[in-house]
This record gives sequence, structure tokens and C-alpha cells, in this order.
Amino acid sequence: MSLPELTVDLIKIRDNTRAVITLAAPFGIEIVGVTKSFLGEPRIAAAMLEGGIRVLADSRLENLTRLRQAFPLVPLMLLRLPALSQTKDVVDVADISLNSDLTVLKSLSEAAVRLGKTHGVILMVDLGDLREGVWPSAVPELFKQAAKLPGIQMRGIGVNMACYGGVIPTRENMIQLLDLAKKSEKLTGIAMEIVSGGNSAALPLLLNKQIPTGINQLRIGEGIVLGRETTERNIVPGAFTGAFVLRAEVIECYTKPTVPIGSLGQDAFGATPRFRNLGWRKRGILAIGRQDISPEALVPRNNRIAIFGASSDHLIVDLSEAPELQVGSVVEFDLLYGGLLGAMTSPYVNKVFYE
Ligand SMILES: *Cc1c(COP(=O)(O)O)cnc(C)c1O
Repeated sequence: MSLPELTVDLIKIRDNTRAVITLAAPFGIEIVGVTKSFLGEPRIAAAMLEGGIRVLADSRLENLTRLRQAFPLVPLMLLRLPALSQTKDVVDVADISLNSDLTVLKSLSEAAVRLGKTHGVILMVDLGDLREGVWPSAVPELFKQAAKLPGIQMRGIGVNMACYGGVIPTRENMIQLLDLAKKSEKLTGIAMEIVSGGNSAALPLLLNKQIPTGINQLRIGEGIVLGRETTERNIVPGAFTGAFVLRAEVIECYTKPTVPIGSLGQDAFGATPRFRNLGWRKRGILAIGRQDISPEALVPRNNRIAIFGASSDHLIVDLSEAPELQVGSVVEFDLLYGGLLGAMTSPYVNKVFYE
């Protein structure tokens, strides 16, 4: 065992995938499996495919390239808007991409023609979250312009919410998306194949049966990997929350005060730390730090353990209520999304897959 380690329960990923697909199927919604939180790791993606996913999606070309090598026949979607400088690689590795810019679409078109391929496009609409997307009033005309481009197949329109602005998907804004789909259809005569209603923040609309008929795709990452929707972090029925567990080792354990001694300046990250005086506590230092994870995104599995804070290479925890733990002990954490992303991305965290 080489610590710190992140263990991945592939059966739970497979079962969570089934749970989300089962939730969506009655509404005629296909689930696209989003792999970016685990860097497109093929073993985890394979568990999604076993669970019934047919299309995989990622925000990074590097991750899609890994997936392409592992799964030559699985349709791949690029989630982040293609960079103008990378359109050739996008067409090369992805079958479909999310787009909002006509210059980029023209460049994708040229690349597709040159490579003798057809590249699928979903036009992204901004319904107020203020991340990517065309402003609603401009959607039908841009859809029409894009549909004229050779090598480009306009597959549908989509939206992404609750990422930047935290705007919650509602029945009303989903109906607005369907409206824009109809207007674009009318203007171009092209039947709208895909209306992509968003990410794991849209799962509550399925749970409370508020999703309007016509939304036929959701792109789901967190709902599968962590088993929760993302507006209130409620558990998806039938899903497991513990597919990923992080383990780190105690390298020092002493009883010390909770407030530093001396005059205080900035910490290693330029912040001025504040401390609550809890008296003398048994403090454990774990061999993992901000270079790997943000301490805010870790939840100790043992509820007698609390997190004090972290520096680059050290995570400091309160072990006062866990007298059995000492130097050499291992502490386990569940992960929030940011913790999963960090642990997967850190080359210092050993990844262990089991099924
Ligand atoms: C990350 C992402 C998703 C998936 O989000 P989750 O909250 O993990 O389900 C879907 N669509 C786009 C455009 C994304 O960037």
C-alpha cells in the first residue's frame, strides 16, 4: 500500500450509472457519461459503459484522446468550447462538440472537410448562468448560419447551468430551451435531434417530475461518480456515495494549542488565517496537502475527526476524539467534487481500482 491513495470502486460506478439511467429513461432522456472528474481514466469510463452509457464526454482533449485509444467505437463529445487553435484535433478525436462561436464553427468545418469527416455540433445557449452560450435572441440565426457549413452536422442545442452563476435549472428555463429549439427548427427546416438540458444540477427536475417533454439528453458526471444531484447534493435514488475513498497517513501526532503563538502574518497562500481557540487538542499531521486536494473538499469518514487546515504538503486534523489514532495510522476521507478532481489529478496520489 502506497499512501496517499485513492481507491475507486468500479462496481459502485457501474451501479450509479444504472441508477441515473433508470431515473432518466421514463422521460425519454439519454444520459451522456461525463469523465472529466477522473481525467478520462479508461477503467472508470469502462464501468460507465457497462452501466449502460453509450456516449462519453469530457472537457479536455487529452482525456478524450485517452478514451479514444481505449474505446475506438464509442462516440465522444467535447464539453468545453473548442479553442480556435485546436479545431483540427477536435475534429480528429471528438465526434461531437458543444459550440457558441461562428468563427470556431467555420474552422471546425474546414478541418472536417480536410479530414473527410462529419463533425456533430450542439449549439450552446446562455439562459443566464453567464458561462458559455449564445444569447437566446441570437440562437436561431446562428443555428442557421452554422447549418450551412460543409462537414458540420447540427445535432441540436443545449444549455449548461449551475456552474458559474449557480443558476438552478427549472421547468421554465427548460421550456425556454425547447422554445429556442422549435424556433431554430422552423427557421432552418432541420429537425432538432438533441435538446441537451444540462448537467447533474438538472437531476432534481427528474426527481420531482418537472422536466418538460422534449428535453432528451443530460450530460452527467457528479451524479454518477459521487451519486448526488448538485443543487442540494441529495443522493440519487439507488446510487452509492462512496465510490471514491481517499486515504492518508499520520506523520506526526502531538497535543498542542489551537491558536498559534507569536504575531501572525500571511500564510503560505497569502491569506491571513483565523483560529478558533479550542484549547489544547490532539493534532495529527497527514502526508497530503493543498498540492493534492483542497481541505474544504474532504469529509473524514470517521465523524470523530475534524479538519483544522492544510498547507501545501500537510493536512492538519483534530484527533482528540480518536484516541486510537497515532503516527502510522491511516485516515479515510469521502470526497466532494473538488477533492475528487484534485486527488485524481495529483501524481502524488496512488490510484487503486477494484471491483
Ligand atoms: C462538467 C460538465 C458537465 C457535467 O457536470 P456534472 O455536474 O459533473 O454532471 C456537463 N456539461 C458541461 C458543459 C460540463 O462542462
